[in-house]
Amino acid sequence: MSKTVKIGIIICHRYHTCAGGKCFRSMQKHEGAFSRYDKDTELQLVGYTTCDGCPGGNIEYAPEEMIKNGAEVIHLATGLVVGYPPCPYTDHFREFIQKRYNVEVVVGTHPIPQKYFDVHTALGTWNDKSWGDKLAPTLADPDIRLAYN
Ligand code: SF4
Repeated sequence: MSKTVKIGIIICHRYHTCAGGKCFRSMQKHEGAFSRYDKDTELQLVGYTTCDGCPGGNIEYAPEEMIKNGAEVIHLATGLVVGYPPCPYTDHFREFIQKRYNVEVVVGTHPIPQKYFDVHTALGTWNDKSWGDKLAPTLADPDIRLAYN
């Protein structure tokens, strides 16, 4: 019998009209941050919402709703990393949710689209080494980044 992992996704509110196309595609294909799960693991989405806008008031409450639905891992969507500017609260959100709710938090969902990669590289946005572990799950390779453009 294949394993199931229940997932909650919190997106950046600046993308609040997003229908989740890239996140859901990458969940189905186990790409980007979802490549950490075995291909035969079924990923079940049990919650999807936004942070509710800066400075992210919904971060305090949304995980509780997701965990009530069985969420085992909460993903902070790739939009937090690729926005202009990236979310300055990402580290705090990750640490808060982990400590407050004792649940695993992963930064990222779908692979970083190449167009965002190019502009942030030109801007030097991610030069600070503190971005390293936040980028790693969604960096992917150029072909995959292009597929998510
Ligand atoms: S930048 Fe951060 S706090 Fe502001 S809307 Fe986006 S995720 Fe929320």
